[in-house]
This record gives sequence, structure tokens and C-alpha cells, in this order.
Amino acid sequence: MVYQKFEELGRWMWEMIGLSEKHGTRFGEETITDFILLDIARQRYPNIRVIQTPKNLEAEKGTDWEWYVGANGFGWVRFAIQAKKLKIASSRYESLNQKAGTADDAELQATVLRAYADANVGVIPLYCFYNHYPTATQADHWQCPLNFEKELLGWTITPLHNVEHALAARGRKSFDYLHKRPGTIPARCLFVCPVLMAQYLGSASTAAANTFLGEPITKLAELPPEIRAGWETGSIEAFSPDFYNSQIEIYPRRILVVDVSEALPESLRERA
Ligand SMILES: [Zn+2]
Repeated sequence: MVYQKFEELGRWMWEMIGLSEKHGTRFGEETITDFILLDIARQRYPNIRVIQTPKNLEAEKGTDWEWYVGANGFGWVRFAIQAKKLKIASSRYESLNQKAGTADDAELQATVLRAYADANVGVIPLYCFYNHYPTATQADHWQCPLNFEKELLGWTITPLHNVEHALAARGRKSFDYLHKRPGTIPARCLFVCPVLMAQYLGSASTAAANTFLGEPITKLAELPPEIRAGWETGSIEAFSPDFYNSQIEIYPRRILVVDVSEALPESLRERA
């Protein structure tokens, strides 16, 4: 099952980041993200694909990651994700207010992510965090209905509105603060927690009132054509303006597609 792979990666992250601190080796979120992709790609899962993006579009102003999660016949949810690694010494995400690029007028990454979500159909903006925080507790830092397992906090996600809230005042960039916020959950929750699974597998709805972790959700009825082609070939040549607004010139650096139809009850699977 997909969620077990994400649990494994969460525990691995927890351990690796703890070890790196102990041994004084440093690596950043970009390295971790690329290792996750490599680990997923090399195992050739039938229901997970890593898709290479066009190199010429690797602008400074991009999003780290885009995930399409869903199933044919049920629709697809589209996540745009910015990754951050916890600084162990301070237990804070020191670069949470990082700018996108080096230009004098560069905007915050969080601002770029919000612009991307507003300009493109169906995008739910998230941050993902890579962590090691041994004093985490169920009472304070576990916002998931399933059983507490501290190591699964090695890889967590939160909706962008939580990060915007954190950036609005001093003292809110810590693991502690962000993991006390509802909606900050282990990354694996996206593939196993019942409330979230119901969003992919429920009837394809475009009702504006629907939210996913507090961000508006509009499911795509089908994968964009270039993503469908990329599922077969492993790469895409170009982003279509129908799904990637060419006015804002923000594109994802990495793409992951996860088919969750295996999680469907047998009776529903025939629809997919
Ligand atoms: Zn959960």
C-alpha cells in the first residue's frame, strides 16, 4: 500500500536527520527531496510515478514539488508543495521566510506558492517538513486520528494557511508551534487517514464549499494530458497553459503521481 511507503520514508527521515546532527553532516531540504524521489523511482511501483519536468523551465521562481493524487473515475487532487527541513539546534524552520530567487524584488516562497495555487486549477498549496524532534508528544504534536508514532513526525505536511499564519508574527517558526496547528499531520496521512481518503474517493465534486485541510479543493476530473503522457514515458516535454498558467511563469521542479485506486473497496473499483 502507498501509505506504508510514505511511513517508511517518514521514519527514515527522522533517523537520518537525527544522525546528521550527531555526526555533524549537513544537507538541506533539496537533497532530502531528491533522495525521496530517487527512492520511489527506483522501486518502480505500479501505482506511483516520478515524472521529470522540462529542464529549461527550472526557473528560480518555481514550486518544489507537485503531487497528483487520485484515481481515474474518481478524479484527482493536485498539491503544490514547498519543502523545509527543521534546524535541529534551534528546533525552528529558519528558512520559512525564504525568498524565491535572488532578485532584489524576489517574493517570499510562501507568496509564490499562494500565487501558484490561485492561478492554476485545482491546486492545494502545502508545506512539507523534514524533522527530528525527540521531545514531540502525542498531546501537543499529533493532529492525526490514528495511533501515535513519534517517528512518523519525521515527514509532515501542513496547509499553506498555517505557514502564512506562522509568518504573520515573530516566534512562530518552530516545530512546536507549527505541529500544534490542526492540519499539520504526517505525510502518510494523505494516503491513509479516512477523512482525507474520502476526498479522493468520494464523488468528484467541484463545490466551492469543500475544503481540504482548510484550503479550497476542486478535483480534476482527469489528469492533465501531459501528466497522463508522462505517466507512460517518465517525463514531460512541456506544460500546457490549460493547467499551468503561463502568465505567472511558475512551474514545479518535480512531479509525483499517486494512484490510490488500490485503496478502493472492491465494489467501487470497477468504476475506476
Ligand atoms: Zn493521519
